[in-house]
Amino acid sequence: MDTKILTEKEIQEAAAVIKEGGLVAFPTETVYGLGADALNEKAVAKVYEAKGRPSDNPMIVHIARASDIGQLTPRLSPDIVTLIENFWPGPLTLVVKRKEGVPDRTTGGLDTVGVRMPDSPIALELINWAGCPIAAPSANLSGKPSPTRFEDVVEDLDGKVDAIIKGPDCRVGIESTVLDVSGDTPTILRPGIITPENIEAAIGKKVAVDPALYVKRPENGSGGEEFKPKSPGMKYRHYAPKADMTVIEGNREQVKAEIQRLKALNERLGNKVGVILFEEKAFIEAAHNFFAQLRDLDRQNVDLILAGALSDTDGVGFAVMNRMLKSAGYNIVRV
Ligand code: AMP
Ligand code: MG
Repeated sequence: MDTKILTEKEIQEAAAVIKEGGLVAFPTETVYGLGADALNEKAVAKVYEAKGRPSDNPMIVHIARASDIGQLTPRLSPDIVTLIENFWPGPLTLVVKRKEGVPDRTTGGLDTVGVRMPDSPIALELINWAGCPIAAPSANLSGKPSPTRFEDVVEDLDGKVDAIIKGPDCRVGIESTVLDVSGDTPTILRPGIITPENIEAAIGKKVAVDPALYVKRPENGSGGEEFKPKSPGMKYRHYAPKADMTVIEGNREQVKAEIQRLKALNERLGNKVGVILFEEKAFIEAAHNFFAQLRDLDRQNVDLILAGALSDTDGVGFAVMNRMLKSAGYNIVRV
């Protein structure tokens, strides 16, 4: 398939592709998404095919006006209304009860649907012109690091999708926070830059966090007694660079020293070693750069990546750590 590269000025052309049931990769403020008409079952099936994504992993449906959530869910609780007012447009996905018209293909067969209004003019314009909600998982091949730059999308999807919109690098750099508001207690299913604390401040009640997010060593990255995440996507091997990767966790100075020690030893064996070490407490910057650094190190063909763990138990750093541990296949060294 020939993939068209479109500019921000050609959004109407991209929207026409979506309307006809085709696939368009586009920038959002979190990561690039691979979009299809969320209500067109055949179009959504093509997204799974292009990405090689397991079919039980539901898609997030993107809308351009908050009120369009009414096409997807029957009712809005006071909490949902407050969350929409506080965080949309922005990197918060709300998992809500789905309306019947939303295809099984889009929700992975669940009776809920994940919805978000992105904070990106290009994404909003695309959805508006397409005139339908757009289902869009990250625009990477399943299992690879999420794409935060146009060139990352081209690397994975050129020849597999109808069009890619060339936009700016993504501002946030990690995927949205996923919050389940379909039951009694709002529950974080995937951490992101909107933290439990931010959400609690908005709705004035305690937010739960899916306990599976705290499990650091699920057996083979799936299964395992304690590791039963409520969000289907969280159980798959994810974000994996080509290189082997180890996360070093512990006191900052000792982490730095251990990275130097492991680097020197491995280089002596003839390995090319890459290091990911963010400034202490620079969590927003870490979120912005993490996936891009993984992809850059893969392009440099490193054999081994050594990454310093971030110290944060539930904020933005925790959201980055969730990705970092998965990238490393839960290969952790404690010092
Ligand atoms: P991605 O589109 O690659 O960012 O992945 C979307 C994430 O949202 C995956 O982890 C999904 O499992 C999760 N998700 C989407 N819809 C739902 C839903 N209805 N219930 C639970 N998790 C969902
Ligand atoms: Mg993804």
